[in-house]
Amino acid sequence: MSRFDRVLVVDWSANSSPKLGADSIWIGRAGAGSRGPENLPTRAAAMAALRAEIAAVLAAGERALICFDIGFGFPRGFAQHLTGQAEALAVWDWLAARIEDDAQNRNNRFAVAAEINRRFPGLGPFWGRPNGHDLPDLPAKGTTRTGHGLAELRATEALCAGAHPMWKLYTTGSVGSQSLLGQAHLAALRRDIGAALSVWPMQAGDTPVVLAETYLSLIDPAVKAAQGYGCKDAAQVDLLARAFHRADMGALMAAPAPAPLLREEGWILGAGHGDRLLAHLPDLELVPPRLRNDCFAMPQGVAWVPVDEALARLQGALHPLTRLEEVAVRDAGGRVLAQPLIARRANPPAANSAVDGYGFAHASLTGDSPYTLPLLAGRAAAGQPYGAAVPQGHAIRILTGAILPEGVDTVVLEEDCAADGARVAFDGPIKPRSNTRKAGEYMQACAEFLPQGRILTPADLALASALGVGRVAVHARLRVGVLSTGDEILSDPDVPAELHQIYDANRPMLLEVIRRWGHEAIDLGHRPDTTEDIAAALDAGARACDVMITSGGASAGDEDHVSRLLRDRGNLSSWRIALKPGRPLALALWQGVPVLGLPGNPVAALVCTLVFGRPALSLMAGSGWHMPQGYVVEAAFAKRKKAGRREYLRARLDAQGRAEVFASEGSGRISGLSWAEGLVELPDAAADIQPGSRVRYIPFTSFGL
Ligand code: AMP
Ligand code: MG
Repeated sequence: MSRFDRVLVVDWSANSSPKLGADSIWIGRAGAGSRGPENLPTRAAAMAALRAEIAAVLAAGERALICFDIGFGFPRGFAQHLTGQAEALAVWDWLAARIEDDAQNRNNRFAVAAEINRRFPGLGPFWGRPNGHDLPDLPAKGTTRTGHGLAELRATEALCAGAHPMWKLYTTGSVGSQSLLGQAHLAALRRDIGAALSVWPMQAGDTPVVLAETYLSLIDPAVKAAQGYGCKDAAQVDLLARAFHRADMGALMAAPAPAPLLREEGWILGAGHGDRLLAHLPDLELVPPRLRNDCFAMPQGVAWVPVDEALARLQGALHPLTRLEEVAVRDAGGRVLAQPLIARRANPPAANSAVDGYGFAHASLTGDSPYTLPLLAGRAAAGQPYGAAVPQGHAIRILTGAILPEGVDTVVLEEDCAADGARVAFDGPIKPRSNTRKAGEYMQACAEFLPQGRILTPADLALASALGVGRVAVHARLRVGVLSTGDEILSDPDVPAELHQIYDANRPMLLEVIRRWGHEAIDLGHRPDTTEDIAAALDAGARACDVMITSGGASAGDEDHVSRLLRDRGNLSSWRIALKPGRPLALALWQGVPVLGLPGNPVAALVCTLVFGRPALSLMAGSGWHMPQGYVVEAAFAKRKKAGRREYLRARLDAQGRAEVFASEGSGRISGLSWAEGLVELPDAAADIQPGSRVRYIPFTSFGL
């Protein structure tokens, strides 16, 4: 039941006269037959439209899900007391026999509610009526009810913030009236359509037409962001239909509660899964709250910040972006899952053979071993099911991966058999179910198999495909801009450099790092040390990027235009991090877009990018805060350091697996970066490293390079 050809979402109504526009009946459609939201003046007109559409669905051999924003059941105990059965569908029939609702929406719902109240002790459970409807058994106020003995809410309503109790029949937000009327209409529809229609979750939902109740507020953030619908009802039905059409309905419809409860109370389709549904509305820009302007500010008096504290503050200041998109599994490698993946089929989907051999019913093995069984003609192979039953006392040739034919529960390995085409003989003992795999042995259908935030690996693509998942919702790629600054920097490698000029080394390096992390690298070019130039580049970058990285000009010197500019206009927080190589790390917001200002020298720029940029960007990209995996190895070098700052040395492992470090620590030495295969991390505390001491080595691969 995982996919429907078309999904309809009906915003039902309890109006007592024909009405169009807000608070009337709207039908949203997605998939086959989709069109803009349809507005209908009466319940009779809506039911006629639905009947016509169901006829078209059945004629075309399609499957349709039709959702209504009414309660399909009442709190526990109600159905049993009213009808003698703890079944919501029995209440539907009870109501259908009593509700009158004519073509002009004139109806007797308040009288029927009063009649129900008379059958319960005390006063209630229904309440609420317009002035002039004087029904002594139907109180006008909920607070005057007593002794009816029923709960206010159903189990499912607890998962839907703001859901109103079914007992409330009148005034804002009430759902009771439209549910009484709707259940009566749907009971009639069920009777007419018969076995082609089922009601979720009370019945098994593998019919061409499935009815379900839902809650239009499940996707409120998308409705709020949506433009151009004219009225909220239209946006709700249209967007929710589209979300259900794209969602994995197998997962959403997997039994959310024990069956007796579901049959008695019903369940709101999508309850508790608003985020999952929102993830299917990627074409709507959902704008996350902007970062606060002071988010990077360090507390007063903090001078040199230890690396770990800087990391913790950075983690607290940033949040993931919410732009999502749906992609085919084959294109999803390296992308970040925006919602958990749910198996759409079991793996293996059916019991099959784990080996090449002979299959039979274990009960065929009577008497003493060795056993001889007559062989049936034909065979079962992978992709070629045998297609008939194997009677007890017989065996069939079976190959690895073949579905076990009916009657076969055990397989004996070919190498353990003698066969002459008519019989097969083998020694015992043979355990029941030997050499077979159970259906769902590796994964059950509807099981969650990969978490949200997972960066999809090649193996994940195999897993998702095996489990029937063809498309996945992923976070949009994080757009990371890279800007180089400095009067001495020459950005064009084809232009001969003057003596005072140096070629831009940082930008190609940082762009490649960003690409390797799976983000979208956006080249913002190079700007000289002039405020207006840099401001213009940041303006352009803020429009195109989710986050920007600059290099150069980040200290407090005369020529440090980036920090001056960010201080004046970008809420600069210059973090003096106790780190070598590092110097200050500038953090700022430029028009709400985070800016990471790196030192200019390439060694410091790379180290800061690996240590701070990687977790910061991965968090923003939706895959969480990634800290690198390090390994404790023996040092092949000697070094003393004082307490007070952390140091990263360019390093690699020698043939003995010991960490050697680059001879010069000068942070301008790009050759050392290229020589290195990782970093040795020396702790904040003082250290006296001798050859053979244990040090922490972090290979570049641990930083995702
Ligand atoms: P700054 O942070 O601007 O004081 O720069 C520190 C050092 O890094 C200076 O020697 C700069 O020339 C050098 N530098 C700055 N940007 C780059 C770059 N994009 N490529 C190579 N070296 C750079
Ligand atoms: Mg400079």
